[in-house]
Amino acid sequence: MNENFDTDTVVRTFVEYFEDRGHRRVTGSTLLPPPGDPVLFTTSGMHPLTPYLEGRPHPLGRRLVNVQRCLRTTDLDEVGDRTHLTVFEMLGSWSLGDYEGRQSLEWGYDLLTEGFGVDPGRLHATVFGGDEQVGPDTDSLEMWQERGVPVELTVDDNWWSNGPAGPCGPDSEIFLWTGDTPPRSTPTQDDRWVEIWNHVMMRHRRLDDGSLVPLPQRNVDTGLGLERLTTLLQGRTSVFDCDVFDPWRGLVPTLWPLDEPALRLVCDHLRSAVVILGDGVRPSHTGRGYVLRRLLRRTLTVLWRDDPSRTLGDLPAELVRHTQDHFRQDGGPEPDAVRRLLVEEERRFRGLLERGRRVLARPRFQGPLDDEDFRYLHDTHGLPRDLVVSLRDE
Ligand code: ATP
Ligand code: MG
Repeated sequence: MNENFDTDTVVRTFVEYFEDRGHRRVTGSTLLPPPGDPVLFTTSGMHPLTPYLEGRPHPLGRRLVNVQRCLRTTDLDEVGDRTHLTVFEMLGSWSLGDYEGRQSLEWGYDLLTEGFGVDPGRLHATVFGGDEQVGPDTDSLEMWQERGVPVELTVDDNWWSNGPAGPCGPDSEIFLWTGDTPPRSTPTQDDRWVEIWNHVMMRHRRLDDGSLVPLPQRNVDTGLGLERLTTLLQGRTSVFDCDVFDPWRGLVPTLWPLDEPALRLVCDHLRSAVVILGDGVRPSHTGRGYVLRRLLRRTLTVLWRDDPSRTLGDLPAELVRHTQDHFRQDGGPEPDAVRRLLVEEERRFRGLLERGRRVLARPRFQGPLDDEDFRYLHDTHGLPRDLVVSLRDE
């Protein structure tokens, strides 16, 4: 383990390693996918590169590397465990119809063990074992066997796709052992194996009828979780213990004493909110703005559980600046402007809660609520279902 690896060093080491092997660095985009993209936020490093994976020539060539900030609304319920954040960063490398998956895995293994000093005995790989349409990924299997890394074969877990139709292919995932005993069991059987790096051999396109056709080029697309790797290199156990959270962990408890699960949620959600605001999103009742609103409401719900006088207006400017600097959001709103936006949103939520309590005190809502009641509360009083449920639990 090496305390010297902070996230900046990990990014630099990763990018330089791939640049030395002919990759050009592409600037990561913001959390906002291009107009017309059906997904609300950028969910992975490959997301902004989709047209090039589908065959359009990239101006920087066939070998690319980058670091991309990501947000997955699908992970919201997992945030607070050891490995999931709302906004996180993905290191990525790509072969756009250039080298094959085996080469990518060899470099991956060498970078982890030599570049980052990971003990090879703590690695486990998973590989696609084949299904009725595509045979097993023997190239990847052989590569891992040659290096002496244990392999688990799976079917569904090692087939990457981004929806029922579109580009897809087998993948090979690299796991790191995080237990305090010697490594045992396999990634699907023991969650002390933590996935850090996925290498996708993106070669097929699935058509609407379920059949597969070859993509115009055979790509490799890899994604490595920056906070996960840094945490493990530092010998720590949760992504909330890596350096990007140091100032949060230092300052938030002095402001609001919270237990560990609450502290994780508050740090994750407020940090994510700062990044989302910095990328130009404002709270609203739909789309991206609603994701932001939900993050702030969840934060306030946790903060107000012990003390309803707590306010986001107390968020230290230093935390806003530290986060915006980390994400190089030079044009983002000043800390004071961020606080004003947060306080405005807080006022709106307080008002909604007061209205909610008043309305729910009416005799009509004392018994069990049916769908009609929920619809009325939402349409007439602007009270979302989950809010009604939590108010009635108070
Ligand atoms: P998991 O099953 O652990 O959620 P995943 O299969 O969703 O991971 P990928 O889609 O393969 O992950 O993403 C590539 C890498 O990005 C992962 O190996 C992991 O290191 C990182 N990653 C994915 N989701 C998150 C998250 N919510 N927070 C932090 N890192 C993440
Ligand atoms: Mg996931």
